[in-house]
Amino acid sequence: MSFVSLMLDTDVTYLKGIGPRKAAALSEHNVATCLDLLQYYPRRYLDRTTVATIRSVRANAEAATVIGTVRVRDIVRRGRRPRLEVIIEDADGERLKGVWFHGLEWIARTLRIGDRVAFYAKVQRYGGMKSMTHPDFDNLDADGPALDTGRILALYRGSMKLQRAGVTSRTLRRTLYELFRTRGTELSDNLPDWIREDHQLLDGRVALRAIHFPRSHGELEQARHRLKFEEFFFLQLMLALNRQHLRKREGTLLSGPGETYRRFLEEVLPFSLTRGQEGALAAVLADTASGLQMNRLIQGDVGCGKTVVAVAALLLAVDNGYQGAFMAPTEILAEQHYGNLRRYFEPLSVETRLLVGKQRKSQRQKILADVAEGRAQVVVGTHAVIQEGVAFRNLAMAVVDEQHRFGVLQRAGLYAKGSRVHMLLMTATPIPRSLALTVYGDLDVTAIRELPAGRKTVRTRLCNERQWPDMMALLRRELEAGHQAYVVYPLVEGSGKVDLKDAESGLASLRKEFPDFAVELVHGRMRRSEKEAVMERFKLGQVAVLVATTVIEVGVDVPLATVMVIEHAERFGLSQLHQLRGRVGRGPDQSYCVLMADYRRTREADQRLMAMLQTTDGFEISERDMKLRGAGDIIGTRQSGLPDFKIADIVEDQDILQAARKAATDLVRRDGALRAPEHASLRRFYRDHYSKGEGSFFRIG
Ligand code: ADP
Ligand code: MG
Repeated sequence: MSFVSLMLDTDVTYLKGIGPRKAAALSEHNVATCLDLLQYYPRRYLDRTTVATIRSVRANAEAATVIGTVRVRDIVRRGRRPRLEVIIEDADGERLKGVWFHGLEWIARTLRIGDRVAFYAKVQRYGGMKSMTHPDFDNLDADGPALDTGRILALYRGSMKLQRAGVTSRTLRRTLYELFRTRGTELSDNLPDWIREDHQLLDGRVALRAIHFPRSHGELEQARHRLKFEEFFFLQLMLALNRQHLRKREGTLLSGPGETYRRFLEEVLPFSLTRGQEGALAAVLADTASGLQMNRLIQGDVGCGKTVVAVAALLLAVDNGYQGAFMAPTEILAEQHYGNLRRYFEPLSVETRLLVGKQRKSQRQKILADVAEGRAQVVVGTHAVIQEGVAFRNLAMAVVDEQHRFGVLQRAGLYAKGSRVHMLLMTATPIPRSLALTVYGDLDVTAIRELPAGRKTVRTRLCNERQWPDMMALLRRELEAGHQAYVVYPLVEGSGKVDLKDAESGLASLRKEFPDFAVELVHGRMRRSEKEAVMERFKLGQVAVLVATTVIEVGVDVPLATVMVIEHAERFGLSQLHQLRGRVGRGPDQSYCVLMADYRRTREADQRLMAMLQTTDGFEISERDMKLRGAGDIIGTRQSGLPDFKIADIVEDQDILQAARKAATDLVRRDGALRAPEHASLRRFYRDHYSKGEGSFFRIG
């Protein structure tokens, strides 16, 4: 539904009936322009295609539409509340009363004696006469269209604000109707004929009108399909253009692994690679030997061994005489990686440096000089390393860990920084394929599905308060065996105080229970240095039980931690539970995850907990999570940099997504610059509504 831009960008206040008050209420729902309004798609529909006779409608049954002529119209002031009563009579001579308690004057003015009107509501029976309270109504004799009768009616998302400002579904229908009537000819279809034909899509203008004013269920279905397709299509187009752009970028030629790479795999690593790790490395070798820039994402559950892949990739750069960088989302994680890398690199004599914010200035300057002059072969740090443009002598490989915190938007920033630098992104949050196509549609994606052999699966148990003693017994046994434990409390936005109290009382009772062990608390309100100090002591084994209200800083690898207790597990999301469970089971010993949950819990909470008991496969978990919560919530729209889908649903509409992706890919193949005359409308729409965003670094003028 492309349009002459002027019309699309017109402020809604220019529309008849939309004053400043209504406009303000609409803007709360992100409706500012005519385009926004056109895309304020109905939330649901009411089928009023059939009209009943007053005789046939039954009291207390389904709502129905009846039509009759106004015979009586009275504002009744006696009784508790003033009310308007309008009695209509239909062709059979049957009567029905409409009653209103609000808006009496206005409605009375609208429904005059003798007018033919339609009422729609549930029917009740009061003192012998059928009646409807606050029926929806249409005056069939009044000027203007009868938008509310004999049709499938669009109902829009409402809110108190909208209601107070008088923006009802009825208002919106009328405003949109006017918009189509006065400006409809300015609309044009922004998909070219060939895409419409290939995918058997409704014309965009027809679809847009039909979504608001469907003439039949069939038409509505087609309109929904078309608009979903279009929504996916433009996002996929952005990704395909980015992808095309990336594909053209030259990358530092790495002509294959050398000595350190080989020694790392054969001498340093005490194990052989899993099939998934081998596959990932084969892809990296192929990418980097192509002369083009690598942009690859490795998806794999916590513990599948992504770090090994990253290290080998860094050594590949080193073997070819270049530098590598390894970036983690937090300083704690960066330090942890640095520790691991140093162990690996020592026997290989590879020089590595850590770059974090807390280093003294003189120290930092020395490190920066080492990086700039090439004495540092591998640099480990936070994402700031690349964002702040640390100068390298010859960086060729950038590994970004925990990519899920790096959305489409931020990624564009990354690409822009290092030219010819190969990008290897890693995420421990596997996401379903359909979602990966969207969130990572511009990248090549490799999944590592298996965990290293011999890894013991974490045993998961669901417990309630009464089983507390059992849990304590397990904890005692593990602590006495020299192991460590996490006890995590949920952090619910806005109720931080309550959670902290929970965690604090948990801390107290654990300390009482285990006087011989160090039990410490880390929570979100602590200063960073305090938090890090506690974490450090936990890592060193000086703290046996770590009570935490925040899960963010728990991203560390503590192989001796074998118990993860999650309090109020019913309040966590599925992926979150899975991530937490991934904190244990990192060493050779059997680990346990105890989900403490309230009996009283929602069905959805129950499904989450069951999923945790039934599988430990992160890909399976993410599929289930997506079905439970919808896609947007999984990735977090903000983080992902994805637009909010207005009508499409990544979970429900996977087929349409695939089709739209194919269309976008076909288009870019045919006309990568969108220059063909038949793509003019599409190009304009894309330029005005997608390529302005930061998410697209492929800008068209
Ligand atoms: P991830 O980063 O994917 O969560 P890591 O790279 O931290 O996983 O690996 C988790 C643990 O598994 C590490 O202790 C690592 O040494 C070990 N590991 C990695 N690959 C293998 C393998 N092929 N066989 C056995 N153990 C492995
Ligand atoms: Mg990792």
